[in-house]
Amino acid sequence: MNLKNCFRRFGMFLAAAALVSSAACAGTVGNTNDSAGEDSIYEPITMPPETEAPTTEPPTEPPEKRVHVTAVGDNLIHYSVYKNAEQLAGEGEDFDFKPLYENVKYLIEDADLAIINQETIISESNELRGANGGALLFNSPPEVADAVIDMGFDVITMANNHLLDFGIDALEESIRFWNQKAEEYNLTVLGAYLNDADAENIRVREVNGVKIAFLAYTMNINGFEIPDDSPIRVILNEEEDVIERQIRYADQIADAVIVSAHWGAEDTHEVSEDRKILAQKMVDWGADVILGCHPHTAQTMEWLTREDGSRGFVFYSMGNFICCQTDNFNVVGEMPDFDIVLDSETGQISLDDVGCIPNIVHYEPEGFSNLRVYPYSKYTPELAERHGLPYAEPQGTYTEFGWDIINNIIEENIPAEFRKLDK
Ligand SMILES: [Zn+2]
Repeated sequence: MNLKNCFRRFGMFLAAAALVSSAACAGTVGNTNDSAGEDSIYEPITMPPETEAPTTEPPTEPPEKRVHVTAVGDNLIHYSVYKNAEQLAGEGEDFDFKPLYENVKYLIEDADLAIINQETIISESNELRGANGGALLFNSPPEVADAVIDMGFDVITMANNHLLDFGIDALEESIRFWNQKAEEYNLTVLGAYLNDADAENIRVREVNGVKIAFLAYTMNINGFEIPDDSPIRVILNEEEDVIERQIRYADQIADAVIVSAHWGAEDTHEVSEDRKILAQKMVDWGADVILGCHPHTAQTMEWLTREDGSRGFVFYSMGNFICCQTDNFNVVGEMPDFDIVLDSETGQISLDDVGCIPNIVHYEPEGFSNLRVYPYSKYTPELAERHGLPYAEPQGTYTEFGWDIINNIIEENIPAEFRKLDK
């Protein structure tokens, strides 16, 4: 939810409170006229007869509580992403990432709960990097967070393979950076933790009366290891005993459980068998929604059924939210979009209107210029025609691009019943 919405709602609350308090004042004003002086005689105001106490029952809780959730894939800040933001910066600013996302912002604002996978760390004491010059290392400017917050994201997941790109101190700095933002802007940040206690402190947000727990795991940290003497904690997918314990616990303390899973081979639409098995286990343990990330491609999604017949849902890979990658399958992502519904009488959770909005990462020739993220509904064949992917340097392997390519990727990877093309 966007801060603006929050203030709007708070404003409505204040207005209502003002009405109540002015009504209360109106009832007592006749007895408290101090300015009248001791000698003055004034007619006591006749109070209207008390209205009958209502005989009807106080309003019961609505039987159904609903939370509209929108999520996005990897916020992957390549060199050319922050170069675009540098060009867009105004007077006195170093970077402005907000315009890059201006075409999708309304979707994030409209959600009651919005979740993003922040693929890169933010460490101001290290040099900026965006995987340029060979090494696949990332360190992003702090202004990235300004855009994430401005769009209205509530939950930031950090569990990913790039956490140790600049070492353990840089990771700690990044965790503290986001923790500070979490405090300032009421965000939920998870996936990389200062210590064991922090990692076991399951994050829960209450939205529209529904308690939602968040967990985030990654399959690896690109071969880096957290030093033995560091308290920093990242939970890997192979730690299934920890994951099972956490999901089961989250299921007990919250109404719904959302798991971010950083997993899979890159640059393929295939969903490997081991991920299907882990997804089923997570749902069996109590996960209601799994948000897959990392492969940089849009992958399929499906319902997974537990033994008791209840269901969870897995998005195997949301692909990229933003990037400057150069294969055609890298620039079409998924924005999961669904409602969590809590039946107040039974306490049962269900998912409604489940699907995803395809997002297109657009850039043009000449150094990835005019980089913007679009929802499918706002993208056009004309923009696709202008896309810089076929001319990008260094060149990708799958450089054919156009409106048909985008539609093929969507048709082959997002089952028809889950496509939200008009949103
Ligand atoms: Zn990744």
